[in-house]
Amino acid sequence: MKSVGINGYGTIGKRVADAVDCQDDMKIVGVTKRTPDFEAKMAVSKGYDLYIAAPEREKLFNDAGIEISGTIDDLYDQLDIIVDCTPGGIGAKNMDNIYREKGLKAIFQGGEKHDAIGKSFNSFTNFEDAQGADYVRVVSCNTTGLCRTLNPIDELAGIKKVRAVMVRRGSDPGQIKSGPINAIVPNPPTVPSHHGPDVQTVMYGLNIITMALLVPTTIMHQHNLMVELKDSVGVDDVIDKLESTSRVLLLETEKGIDSTATVMEYARDIGRPRGDLFEIAVWKESLNIVDNELFYMQAIHQESDVVPENVDAIRAMLEMESDPSKSIEKTNRNMGISG
Ligand code: NAD
Repeated sequence: MKSVGINGYGTIGKRVADAVDCQDDMKIVGVTKRTPDFEAKMAVSKGYDLYIAAPEREKLFNDAGIEISGTIDDLYDQLDIIVDCTPGGIGAKNMDNIYREKGLKAIFQGGEKHDAIGKSFNSFTNFEDAQGADYVRVVSCNTTGLCRTLNPIDELAGIKKVRAVMVRRGSDPGQIKSGPINAIVPNPPTVPSHHGPDVQTVMYGLNIITMALLVPTTIMHQHNLMVELKDSVGVDDVIDKLESTSRVLLLETEKGIDSTATVMEYARDIGRPRGDLFEIAVWKESLNIVDNELFYMQAIHQESDVVPENVDAIRAMLEMESDPSKSIEKTNRNMGISG
């Protein structure tokens, strides 16, 4: 049983904690918080040992009556690996200033730059490359979404080139300080966006160019893909391939799942914790092939799609499993993800 800590119990951190805690080969030893807010209280009430990320703030936790198990300095020595879920940019500093010095393996999130960490990860495309690695970055929610569907398409027909337009949520549901509220924002206004190069950090050599927009929604990203194929295949072949691909769901407008709002309603109805959807949802009707170019639309639940990948990254880095499909299957089974 491997011991895992979570640094930064926020949107991603709390989800990764729950995903790790329901596995049978790893356990959460502690999570960290900077602020004694409701999330800190929830962590304790769920049974996680809570450590203060900023030791000088101990009094705030004491005043709030939140039970703590120590400061973050007390946590490191108990761990086989730490999953750093702090806001973008902090993780790389933690790697250089703390984790390296302590000899502690660490996983980072998509807000860190690939070059700062040196190795990026997706369960399906480069699990093997993370075997035994000390520092790995799980690629962002958008990049994970692109990889989840492009990888099986590449396996099926080979990809000549990808062009993708990504419609990104303005903020997460719990955030009130970012937007837009009433605009569609080219973001970045330059082409290509960083998403294509990010995919290339885990799908080596893929010809991909992306452009991105921000819109006033909080619940999902939406991607529009155009994929030139090497081999000639039919739409039914693509449907069969995606239907048999783990962590991808084909959903149908005809059955009432006609927007990101109803995709999220579906996730709530199937009883997912927090209403999360760990899979990438592809609209079946959007799949079309014209002149050997595949078109499709998909939706990404930004708060949760990267969560199972963090669990697989732990197995690869701690050399608990060398076969990606076995880790993926185990993670899925324990998290209630079918396929
Ligand atoms: P968040 O703000 O929801 O959570 C971050 C947590 O870290 C908060 O609890 C915050 O108090 C805490 N924190 C801040 N500074 C800290 C420090 N110095 N030490 C320890 N804890 C600290 O952020 P998030 O959305 O969970 O993002 C975390 C990482 O995951 C980022 O790299 C982000 O880019 C990436 N990511 C986010 C999403 C998303 O949609 N939210 C999706 C994929 C990846």
